[in-house]
Amino acid sequence: MATTTATRPEERAREWLAPAYGRREIERRIPRDRMPSDSMDPRIAYQLISDELQVEANPALNMASFVTTVMDEEAERLIMENLGRNYIDKEVYRSTTEIEERCVNILADLFNAPDDSEFWGTAAIGSSEALMIAGVAHKRRWRHRREEQGKPADRPNIVMGRDVHITWEKFARYFEVEPRLIPLHPDEYTITAEAVTDAVDENTIAVVGVLGTSYTGQYDPIEEINDALEALNDRTGWDVPLHVDGASGAFIAPFIQPDFGWDFRLSQVRSINASGHKFGLVYPGIGWILFRDRADVPEDLFVSTNVLGFKETTFSLNFSRGAAMILGQYYNFLRLGREGYRRIMENLHETAEYLAEGLLATGKVERINDAESVPAVVLRLLDEERYNASDVVAKLAEHGWTVPALTLPPDADEVDAMRMVVKENFTRTMADKLIADFGEAIEKLEASQSEPYHPRPIEAGKKPIC
Ligand SMILES: *Cc1c(COP(=O)(O)O)cnc(C)c1O
Repeated sequence: MATTTATRPEERAREWLAPAYGRREIERRIPRDRMPSDSMDPRIAYQLISDELQVEANPALNMASFVTTVMDEEAERLIMENLGRNYIDKEVYRSTTEIEERCVNILADLFNAPDDSEFWGTAAIGSSEALMIAGVAHKRRWRHRREEQGKPADRPNIVMGRDVHITWEKFARYFEVEPRLIPLHPDEYTITAEAVTDAVDENTIAVVGVLGTSYTGQYDPIEEINDALEALNDRTGWDVPLHVDGASGAFIAPFIQPDFGWDFRLSQVRSINASGHKFGLVYPGIGWILFRDRADVPEDLFVSTNVLGFKETTFSLNFSRGAAMILGQYYNFLRLGREGYRRIMENLHETAEYLAEGLLATGKVERINDAESVPAVVLRLLDEERYNASDVVAKLAEHGWTVPALTLPPDADEVDAMRMVVKENFTRTMADKLIADFGEAIEKLEASQSEPYHPRPIEAGKKPIC
């Protein structure tokens, strides 16, 4: 029987014995946008992809991102061992379901849900899914209330600041709710209680306050917004809830600012979202949504199916989802405890202060965020005549750093900022390197700017990546 060269046994054996980088697949150009017609050795497939990733940014040096880049080896083992576990099979994977419920209970306790409250919560893919769940629930609850009162329910709005994350604008667009976006001030990057109450009316499904904005990491004045909203609701008979987007801050404030009121201790706070994969210290793929009271989630949003052989009732946007990161979250709760989270968060803040001091010592920048919120250093150049923030971050990229240059939202959009989020993997040794590279970047830019210079503008409307 005729065999082709490639399939002759001795040829095949030679191929298998060849060193990875001596193999045919490495020599050939692999089709990129069509599936290859033949299979390949798994080691080669691995190598090809792993090598390609070497040319992109290093997540550990990505100061733009809030998302976790390190976990304990034991957490990684747990995650690896459970990558094939699908969280939707709740009846089958009962321990996982119970662990998710424990996480929700732990978070309700951290967020100070009243002892007698029947809170409800669930895991999500991230804060994006979590806040959509919250928005959908508040919209439906508002509609039911309006219908009971015999009033029109066709013009829902949601009140929030321009400092909200882009996912809120997505929510408004996808779920057809008018976004009432409160502008910022040229020198103040969060919203005020007064502006919020001015924007609220009987068609407001919820007010959103952010605990750690994506631009400067600062906290909206949640308590003041709460009090103003309480007074407004009392006066008008409306029942406009306050949602706290605690994507970052909900995993920071409970540990290092325990007396700061932002959570279910405040009367109008009805729901809170948090990103387990940001300061919850878990790898990407986990967020949480909690409601103060199960009654805040209309029953008609829970959907049942028996497609898996048992009755499954859920309120979520995704069906299948990995269980591994839920287990990773519970691992951190057990492993770190409150004490561990507190020490890590304190450390992050101290590192952020250290980084800020070093960068400010260049004399070329000012810090525009306060030190009390998300551990981040947000700077602007004192002098933007000859070079701008985009030039500085381009220079930092030469050393492997990803630092975003971003324009703050209107009406603070004359500010071009550079934001550096301090994550768990960012040590003081790394801070020293970033400070040195920053100083060098400035020096080089100054040295090369002897001629009149036209700064590269920052792309309009560029959103921070986080
Ligand atoms: C990151 C972030 C989001 C989006 O959350 P994901 O967990 O990335 O889906 C929403 N709001 C704020 C304030 C954030 O920081």
